[in-house]
Amino acid sequence: MTLAAPHKKAKALKSGSRRPAKELCSECGLCDTYYIHYVKEACAFIHQQVAELEAQAHGRSRDLDSSNELYFGVHQDMMAAKKKQPIEGAQWTGIVSTIACEMLTQGFVEGVVCVQNSQDDRFQPAPILARTCEEILAAKVNKPTLSPNLSVLEEIENSGMKRLLVIGVGCQIQALRAVEKQLGLEKLYILGTPCVDNVSRAGLQKFLETTSKSPETVVHYEFMQDFRVHFKHENGSIEKVPFFGLNTKELKDVFAPSCMSCFDYVNSLADLVVGYMGAPFGWQWIMVRNETGREMLDLVQDQLDTQPVMSSGDRKAAVQQSIPAYDKGVTLPMWAAKMMGLVIEKIGPKGLEYARFSIDSHFTRNYLYLKRNYPEKLEAHVPEYAKRIVNQYELPEK
Ligand code: FAD
Ligand code: SF4
Ligand code: SF4
Repeated sequence: MTLAAPHKKAKALKSGSRRPAKELCSECGLCDTYYIHYVKEACAFIHQQVAELEAQAHGRSRDLDSSNELYFGVHQDMMAAKKKQPIEGAQWTGIVSTIACEMLTQGFVEGVVCVQNSQDDRFQPAPILARTCEEILAAKVNKPTLSPNLSVLEEIENSGMKRLLVIGVGCQIQALRAVEKQLGLEKLYILGTPCVDNVSRAGLQKFLETTSKSPETVVHYEFMQDFRVHFKHENGSIEKVPFFGLNTKELKDVFAPSCMSCFDYVNSLADLVVGYMGAPFGWQWIMVRNETGREMLDLVQDQLDTQPVMSSGDRKAAVQQSIPAYDKGVTLPMWAAKMMGLVIEKIGPKGLEYARFSIDSHFTRNYLYLKRNYPEKLEAHVPEYAKRIVNQYELPEK
């Protein structure tokens, strides 16, 4: 006799115990539940299967010969948008929280997986299955740390919920897609954000202390399209630090090994993606991947100002130059970094070209990291689209 739900017999790992993906684990939360039963198939770091899961989620995998799909994945529409009335304290204008609240209050879903912070630490993630709009709004703003969002999966099955929205980043969503059919849902909606350079809580502390003048008062930060990191402080002031002035030697080991090995920057498997990097400064960037994503966006369309996406500049030389600079851990003096930032901001890549700049820089860095540290994983772990992107550049031999 075969068991209908064999995972229910599996045992979740205790917190702190070593995960099957070992040091590459991004703490997505799957192994905190009995769905660990599927980990060898589902984990993004054990079994890379983006193309197969794209076909399952969107009806086809991306067209590698289309330059937009090569970079941004399967999509039917893309735009820049911002809320007419932004949500105070959201990461950007709060489009993600607004969609989630509308889906819940209009009865499209019974619950929303999102991540609040712990009571005593604004950056310590605390995933929840939200059942009210207040709980969703309490999850607004990025927790810029690895977050075990999928740790609430058991609660979903046990609650008997049939219609669910999950908000998450790429590695969480790959594992979720892989176990989607085991969740017993009638309808799953997935609202994703792009994600890159994530860190453990300890890594975040080091980043803040190395980069900000007042690490203890930072409320949130973002790597912005003006080539500066913007730190927002408790008193509302904004501190701007040029990318090129970052202490790359110190920061090299800050990012989690999972994130140094990640090639799903744009959250390829979500139905709808909301980020910022493909939009003009101050706007958010929306990608509708399939009909489910369209349904979600339609719910808030009248609350948004929108404009078409644009693209200008040429990223290629800047990316090629950044490869050895990052590799050698070069840090420019602050005056030179500011100057370089200003020049690049004036003449550099904008809109979709900025998004390509960021993808190229991270994919080349991550490819080298994987090649040096996990050469045996390189071939299977790097998706075909990422190989094509990396192959545009000359990389150091070793
Ligand atoms: P809000 O309404 O403030 O809602 C934010 C939502 O994010 C909440 O629902 C919360 O549950 C969820 N969330 C917060 N932290 C996490 C986490 N650690 N894991 C999973 N879910 C989380 N966009 C880009 O275009 N380029 C980037 O390089 C980029 N890097 C990112 C890195 C991280 C670690 C994260 C979490 C997001 C990143 N984003 C990036 C997305 C972007 O910063 C915004 O989150 C997005 O535009 C939504 O803004 P909002 O105001 O609509 O969100
Ligand atoms: Fe488990 Fe997720 Fe870690 Fe993979 S990344 S080992 S699925 S917790
Ligand atoms: Fe996961 Fe990739 Fe984000 Fe790291 S960078 S948290 S691996 S999606």
